[in-house]
Amino acid sequence: MSKIAFIGLGHMGLPMARNLLKAGHELKVYDLVQEAIDELAAEGAKAARDARDAVAGMQVVITMLPASKHVEGLLLGEGGLLESITTGSLVLECSTIAPDSARKVHAAAKARGIEMLDAPVSGGTAGAAAGTLTFMVGGDAAALEKARPLFAAMGKNIFHAGPDGAGQVAKVCNNQLLAVQMIGTAESMALGVANGLDPTTLAEIMRQSSGGNWVLERYNPWPGVMLNAPASKDYDGGFMAELMAKDLGLAQETAQHSLSSTPMGALALQLYRLLLKQGKGKKDFSVVQKLFTE
Ligand code: NAD
Repeated sequence: MSKIAFIGLGHMGLPMARNLLKAGHELKVYDLVQEAIDELAAEGAKAARDARDAVAGMQVVITMLPASKHVEGLLLGEGGLLESITTGSLVLECSTIAPDSARKVHAAAKARGIEMLDAPVSGGTAGAAAGTLTFMVGGDAAALEKARPLFAAMGKNIFHAGPDGAGQVAKVCNNQLLAVQMIGTAESMALGVANGLDPTTLAEIMRQSSGGNWVLERYNPWPGVMLNAPASKDYDGGFMAELMAKDLGLAQETAQHSLSSTPMGALALQLYRLLLKQGKGKKDFSVVQKLFTE
């Protein structure tokens, strides 16, 4: 069993940390939000006073933070957390951040004799709770083998995407595709309903036809079609639209590096920015449905 520091106990981090606890690992947890620490402490984790306290004496450090600036701000630079992490430890950076940002953290960790993997996830809050996340891992294959039992306690599919930063590249490709599927599904749902179709009937027809996709299977954006989907809970919970906008921005940055043409991703980013301007950034990303109905 490993001694793990877990930092970032939000929508994703908290259930991921809980699954590690359930698997019998020793956890010391930290977040800027005290209630999240208290919740896990009540279930057997040790509560850390700050991030430095969390990593002291631990063999593994897992971070699940919002974006590049949080990860770099916490780990890098003078007084950054990497300075407090024991040499020979393993850092699993699971946030979705820029591939370049991940590579910076890899280089800084290596310079201190710390192994690191970029390991963003897919599967949403439901996957985090159920322990069925997909991990897309960038970095050294031998480090991945060390981390595999920990990933397996939190997820189902574990992919080695390639060298440092490759996990993040895979993640931005996936999320760009997810956003495009979500927007396309929302647009078609609105079109059908505006022309007299029952939303549940339309959703089922498309799900079982050639338009079928992950959104229609698990995450329909029309309220009432799937009772467990965020759309049926006033778009609360799930994956915030502002995080999707962030990921689409990362996809555009990544495309700029390779001079790739990504017109669908560019349009998706503009539509999500519009949602943010409308004050819907904290809602689940399926709230894009409202662009076509309000
Ligand atoms: P979140 O905003 O709910 O959680 C982030 C947590 O990090 C918050 O609790 C915040 O207080 C904490 N935090 C920020 N800075 C900190 C610091 N310096 N020290 C300690 N704690 C700090 O976000 P989330 O939905 O859990 O997403 C986390 C990451 O996972 C993001 O990069 C996101 O893009 C990615 N992701 C999210 C989902 C999803 O469905 N929510 C799915 C896949 C990937």
